Amino acid sequence: MSAPTYDLGTLHGGLRLPARKSVSTRQPIVAMPVPAQLVLPITQHVGDPAEPIVGIGERVLKGQLIADTNSALGAPVHASSSGKVIAIEPWPVVRRFGENAPCIVVECDGRDESVQRADTAADFTTLAAEDLLGKILHGGIVGLGGAVFPTAQKLMQARTCEIDHLILNGVECESYISCDDLLMREHAEEIISGAQILMHALQIDRCFIAVESDKPEAVGKLAEVLGKINDDRIILKKVPTIYPSGGEDQLVQLVTNREVPSAGLPSDVGCLVQNVGTTAAIHDWVINNEPLISRVTTVTGDGVASPVNVRARIGTPIGEIIEMAGGYTDRAEQLIIGGPMTGKSITTDRVPLVKSTNCVLVSSKTPSPGPALPCIRCGDCASVCPVQLLPQQLFWYACADDEAKLRDFGLIDCIECGCCDLVCPSRIPLTADFRVAKGRIRELADEKARAARARQRFEARNDRLEREQARRESELAQQKAAAKKAGPTAIAEILKRRKPKNEDDE
Ligand code: SF4
Ligand code: SF4
Repeated sequence: MSAPTYDLGTLHGGLRLPARKSVSTRQPIVAMPVPAQLVLPITQHVGDPAEPIVGIGERVLKGQLIADTNSALGAPVHASSSGKVIAIEPWPVVRRFGENAPCIVVECDGRDESVQRADTAADFTTLAAEDLLGKILHGGIVGLGGAVFPTAQKLMQARTCEIDHLILNGVECESYISCDDLLMREHAEEIISGAQILMHALQIDRCFIAVESDKPEAVGKLAEVLGKINDDRIILKKVPTIYPSGGEDQLVQLVTNREVPSAGLPSDVGCLVQNVGTTAAIHDWVINNEPLISRVTTVTGDGVASPVNVRARIGTPIGEIIEMAGGYTDRAEQLIIGGPMTGKSITTDRVPLVKSTNCVLVSSKTPSPGPALPCIRCGDCASVCPVQLLPQQLFWYACADDEAKLRDFGLIDCIECGCCDLVCPSRIPLTADFRVAKGRIRELADEKARAARARQRFEARNDRLEREQARRESELAQQKAAAKKAGPTAIAEILKRRKPKNEDDE
């Protein structure tokens, strides 16, 4: 029997944030009814958009593929219920960049009819690892912890490295968010089944499930299931309740004591990290043939009447999810998708729930911190930085727009956790500045890549012209030699025929 272990590792820096989770964990996950209308963005992941494969007026069924992709970095989109496609048009969404994005709008018919699926794979162990990865590719599964990287591509990339540890991330270190906690309490079997599927796909036999020390119910339920299934490959690990212990690199360090190199990935040190929600979604798809069409999200904050966790269909308008939590209170002044540290503020509740929506936070306005003051070099920001950066130095170089120094001082490794902001006595918006500076560095890198491609094209054209010139000269020499043999009239005829063919001839 696999005995759960409870090793509390240590994290450099970080902060103990107020949990504020109990308000949304008093009752079990509530299943939301199918809404009247679903709005399904064709891009809900990092990578290239999927292409709609349905037309306006077409009837679709629950689980039907409605947008597909051939991209090396993409994820398909499935209808979350049955109904009619009434529009394919830009719609307000929560995105990293931009406000509106193309969406497939489905008017639901209330019948919730599912597409028929023939290929059941209840015993995944009979599938070859490659076939299992192929299956996961078609489930529309992306990282549900917020990164939304297409899961199949992440697994395929991992297969090219020497991975020996799978780490399931059950760490929800931001205040208010409790959807993974509830998922672990209520769906531990599915999460553990998903872990077994992933180990088979990766051909490894070690998995850690990392859960924070302040989640005794989730730990208890996972331990109970592990005790029943007798799979010694899976080990439960408690990690400290410190923000941001759920960051991928931080979790790898806490669980395995391996350090992810600068600008590297967990796979560089033999680890693959998957969110517990993603793992449960893999179970749902591989075992039950249900693609990623719903997720659990926390609806909370003093701006909603009854904070709760709901399972809602992807594409459900956020406004309807807030209604499910009792609607707005008088204190509702700001709407944030995600947690208070890393979430995005939005101005309309018409945006749909997407695969990455782990929390809908409605709250009263945070009082303005007042104007930023000069840096007093206290060093508090460096002492809390979980990546061991020097935020005060980075701030200095960001103000000076010194790209080289920003690179030297590791800006690329900043995970934008916001810890430095919270402790800065001068109220300097460090993280926002770092985000802008990283964007500028990315733009510069793109520009350099574009310039390199243009230079390659120019050089290739010159090579081609030189080869053509050499070929023509060689042909002319051959013709002259042949004509010399034939006599003077033939030479005059060849010279008359030789006219420039295009501007590159001369
Ligand atoms: S915490 Fe603020 S004031 Fe202190 S060193 Fe960092 S940036 Fe400067
Ligand atoms: S935002 Fe970046 S620099 Fe600031 S504490 Fe987090 S990782 Fe460090």
